Amino acid sequence: MRPRSEAELSRLVERAAAERRTVKVVGAGHSFTPIVCTDGYLVDLGDYDRVLHVDQAAATVTVQAGIPLWKLNQELATRGLALENIGDIAYQSIAGATSTATHGTGLRFGNIASRIIGLHLVTGDGSVVEATPEHHPDVLDVARVGVGALGVLSTVTLQCVPAFNLHALEQAESVDAILERWDEEITGNDHFEFFWLPNTGWALTKRNRRTQEPARPRPRWRALRDDYLLSNYAFDVTCRVARRNPELGRRVAKLVPGTGRSDYIDRSDRVFASPRTVKFYEMEYAVPRENLVEAFNRVRELVRRQGVQILFPVEVRAVAADDIPLSTAFGRETAYIAVHVYQGTPYDQYFQGVEGIMNDYGGRPHWGKMHFQTAATLAPRYPRWHEFQALRTRTDPTGRFSSPYLDRVLGPSGA
Ligand SMILES: Cc1cc2nc3c(=O)[nH]c(=O)nc-3n(C[C@H](O)[C@H](O)[C@H](O)COP(=O)(O)OP(=O)(O)OC[C@H]3O[C@@H](n4cnc5c(N)ncnc54)[C@H](O)[C@@H]3O)c2cc1C
Repeated sequence: MRPRSEAELSRLVERAAAERRTVKVVGAGHSFTPIVCTDGYLVDLGDYDRVLHVDQAAATVTVQAGIPLWKLNQELATRGLALENIGDIAYQSIAGATSTATHGTGLRFGNIASRIIGLHLVTGDGSVVEATPEHHPDVLDVARVGVGALGVLSTVTLQCVPAFNLHALEQAESVDAILERWDEEITGNDHFEFFWLPNTGWALTKRNRRTQEPARPRPRWRALRDDYLLSNYAFDVTCRVARRNPELGRRVAKLVPGTGRSDYIDRSDRVFASPRTVKFYEMEYAVPRENLVEAFNRVRELVRRQGVQILFPVEVRAVAADDIPLSTAFGRETAYIAVHVYQGTPYDQYFQGVEGIMNDYGGRPHWGKMHFQTAATLAPRYPRWHEFQALRTRTDPTGRFSSPYLDRVLGPSGA
């Protein structure tokens, strides 16, 4: 179903209710789990992707829920505005990204959902709740990260910021040295992240500083070489070889040149997000910021002990605490550790090993990425879990938006 208006969206849910079918919305389909799979109605908001209103003075924007981030970034840039912080791709729809607490990095900045200041939610009987800080603030509070379980987000209003550039510095460094400076790095840089190359002592660091200095982008040939040729095409070929023959893959990897040191200034979204064409599986865990170094070192040790032969890096980021009940950063400054393997590569042993470590730190798995948890193991990790479930019982008492996957990770609606 591809609705074009809120009224159509609402009628669609009414019809599903009359037919006793379930409804799932798919954003850009960029989650790594069956989170959007259904044998009921699958709603694609690809034709429901416009900017509805911009308040230039207040720097706010109201959009239809299907708008992809790349288009939103573009629309905001033409109006001198920007999203405060985003992750490392911009293919997701705004509702898909916020529903799973999608985040970037930067200890002074929250995830994308934390910037939501209003929303319209189509509930299980097709009625629309218009939630703002003044009307239905309880719905606004919880539904910012709804995991697709509370209803269909129809529109989202976001607090933006004046457009800004980022000064990017990317280079390879010793991972031990990075860990020693972890606190300084995340407090001293606007945006800091690193990618550790398993079985080596090296990591690629990215430091982004917010600036109003004019753009000084990489030459086009260099951006194409780094972002497409080396980071995607050559990497894909190397991963393919390594999937069949890990030893040969490692040798090929040594022949592919690195992207080297990069120092440039560009529009914020062009620095935050880059193209990704290589397909992979991912699990990402949120742990308290202060546990990062210990948890990361245990992952390093696990990789060594298990003899994990992978080329995909382990990514580490940090974000501010927020107050959204099902946000992975709820109530604590958060560090994220993400592990990846190339598509078609066995991942169970590696991911389960990493998950076992994360459990010791009250780790919360990303809602759009792989994990092995259930509602029973997740509930104690979210102090406001019951408030989420109470709202779910109100907005979806009959399980209109449920699915086998949500039954596993959230429990059945009304439970
Ligand atoms: C290459 C790649 C890079 C990534 N990088 C990052 C990153 O840097 N940071 C990060 O945090 N995550 C990252 N992710 C994960 C990604 O941001 C999330 O999985 C996100 O949910 C995908 O958005 P989507 O639009 O594809 O949503 P989908 O995967 O299609 O849906 C996700 C959830 O949102 C729900 N949903 C979608 N639209 C609506 C709506 N209108 N109303 C109610 N519910 C809705 C769906 O039902 C589902 O529950 C990455 C994923 C990939 C594949």
